[in-house]
Amino acid sequence: MTIALYPGSFDPVTYGHLDIATRALTVFDEVVMGVFDTPSKNLLFTTEERVSLIQEAIGDIPNLRVESYTKMTVAFARHINAKVIVRGLRMSPDFEREFEMALMNKKQDPEIEVLCMMSSVQYQFLSSSLMKEAAKYGGYIEDLVPEHVATALRRKLATK
Ligand code: ADP
Repeated sequence: MTIALYPGSFDPVTYGHLDIATRALTVFDEVVMGVFDTPSKNLLFTTEERVSLIQEAIGDIPNLRVESYTKMTVAFARHINAKVIVRGLRMSPDFEREFEMALMNKKQDPEIEVLCMMSSVQYQFLSSSLMKEAAKYGGYIEDLVPEHVATALRRKLATK
């Protein structure tokens, strides 16, 4: 049984993330979306909120679950018995950073492979950060995130 870890900040989860997670499920027996507690970027949502937005989005899809983690990604992968780390790759912004991170992860634990899945064409230009920016100015985000995420985002931005 091959377990894959799909780690990220997911601040908040978008259809681009969900697309990678569900496609990874067609390749691996189990996929765990790992919400990194303290990424080095400014977050809008707390860890609990990011987890719960994913939980509501994935519902009870078999073999897909979400967990938060605080350690190094490879340490969390070992902890849940994942042999593979899955990441999503959009056309231009991700390649160098993902390459760097993959090499760093490989250095920490050579037994864990990093696999990048190409983003689906309709999500190539979708990022949580740009989507938050659009939402901040009242932009249209309905095709980019599930409805409960759009609602949570608007509520959160209204309190800022
Ligand atoms: P990070 O983990 O770098 O903080 P995110 O949480 O936004 O970034 O994304 C988690 C993973 O999902 C990363 O591998 C990122 O490249 C990928 N990803 C983000 N948005 C998309 C998208 N629209 N399509 C495919 N993959 C994506």
